[in-house]
Amino acid sequence: MTMTASKAQVGEVVERNTLDDLRTRLRGELILPGTPGYDESRSIWNAMIDRRPAAIVRAVGAPDVVTGVQFAREQGLPLSIKGGGHNIAGLAVADGGLMLDLSLMRGVVVDPAARTARVEAGSLLGDVDRETQAHGLAAVLGFVSATGVAGLTLGGGFGYLTRRFGWTSDNVLSVDMITADGRTVHASAQENPDLFWGLRGGGGNFGVVTSLEYNLHPVGPEVMGGLIAWRGGDAPQVLEMYRALTKQAPPELTVAAMLRMAPPAPWLPKDMHGKPIVALLVCYTGPVDEAEKHVAAIKGFGSPVGDIVQRRTYVSQQSMLDATQPKGRRYYWKSEYLPGVEPELLAQAIAHAGRIVSPYSAVILFPVDGALNLLPEDHSAVGNRDAAYVLNITSSWDRADDDKSNIEWARATWQDMRRFSTGGTYINFQTADEGEERILAAYGRNYGRLVEVKTKWDPENLFRMNKNIMPRP
Ligand SMILES: Cc1cc2nc3c(=O)[nH]c(=O)nc-3n(C[C@H](O)[C@H](O)[C@H](O)COP(=O)(O)OP(=O)(O)OC[C@H]3O[C@@H](n4cnc5c(N)ncnc54)[C@H](O)[C@@H]3O)c2cc1C
Repeated sequence: MTMTASKAQVGEVVERNTLDDLRTRLRGELILPGTPGYDESRSIWNAMIDRRPAAIVRAVGAPDVVTGVQFAREQGLPLSIKGGGHNIAGLAVADGGLMLDLSLMRGVVVDPAARTARVEAGSLLGDVDRETQAHGLAAVLGFVSATGVAGLTLGGGFGYLTRRFGWTSDNVLSVDMITADGRTVHASAQENPDLFWGLRGGGGNFGVVTSLEYNLHPVGPEVMGGLIAWRGGDAPQVLEMYRALTKQAPPELTVAAMLRMAPPAPWLPKDMHGKPIVALLVCYTGPVDEAEKHVAAIKGFGSPVGDIVQRRTYVSQQSMLDATQPKGRRYYWKSEYLPGVEPELLAQAIAHAGRIVSPYSAVILFPVDGALNLLPEDHSAVGNRDAAYVLNITSSWDRADDDKSNIEWARATWQDMRRFSTGGTYINFQTADEGEERILAAYGRNYGRLVEVKTKWDPENLFRMNKNIMPRP
């Protein structure tokens, strides 16, 4: 896959009147280099990615998406899709391409009786949470509220509710999509089931998704959750407690573990800021009057330096990590699925965390075991039904001069820790330098069927600004 300019550069090869024609066909905006809004639209979460599309279509509905797809195809422009702009590999933007920016398409319609929500593809997780929580319902989404719902869902998706209800994509009922030849199609278990199978894990490989329908679950509005931290020196004991606790935790309890430097957060004492900590991110989504007994062992363990595990709204829990992941820093991640967390793995995680070079970087363990393990591997494209945890080695820093040392730390940690992997890896956590071998690892034996779906729905590979599944010639 290449992100370089195409044969046709808008403004050079594309005639001015062709652009004017495009503009008149859109309800939304056409944004060109040098015009207001261009830099805001092309910039994404990971500042390592600095690409310049030739033109941006800010769509306000499915017809604009159809127009954008047809224009890119006719003009031979690489087509990229931007939802929340959170993809670490920068898949939302292509140099010299046409970017479909969906950030104005954020409508969410909840049907409380049916417990479903129809969500436009530019919505962020926080949009969906706020709308669904008004009815005491929630979709299975991720941990950071500014993430795009479509990118997350199409790659699989996991969060606080995954242990109870599976991958985010397991909770999708139907999808509306625009194909490479500009047709609008509906995919569900009944309609276009092959496409529906592929969309639940196969990313943006088949078309532009304009909306998704989710199955919702009664959750909140109050949950028991928050963060609790101990000194880094206590990490061996805390992680051993974590290992034993998560082995028998009810599905309603999700506890992620993090090793990092203490951020300058008000809930941590000033003298701890910048010092190593081990922290647990806790959320119990069962009946709130039963919650205390499920978190008692965590809250009573050792001598925490900060503890904000308490009753809080589910919406606040869903944005608890937002401040640690701001847009505009430099980011590089490595990730693996794990079958469990054994003492040797935890000891290695502690050793590598001791070599972190930036105050923002972390080694994180997210539990995902439970409902997703109960479905067969070929239930949908996402697969990885043997995963119990996600290991995420997240490197993050401010200055380009520090790229080398931070990337090296993440790579060295991963090289050592990948021996604990199931062999699978989360497609949505792959960086720009992870190519075919890692895409194959992410899909395992579902890859062959994904190629068939790709060959049928996008034989020309118009949708290639993604972790690309290559159509058969
Ligand atoms: C801070 C942070 C926290 C995260 N936390 C979690 C988490 O808790 N759980 C989790 O599962 N993942 C998490 N992720 C990973 C996240 O799922 C991916 O980064 C995902 O790609 C983000 O989607 P987006 O729409 O924001 O990305 P974008 O960069 O906008 O899009 C990425 C790609 O997705 C595809 N895509 C997006 N929208 C569409 C569409 N409408 N139609 C077709 N293809 C589309 C395209 O290929 C596009 O280029 C996190 C990422 C970040 C940066």
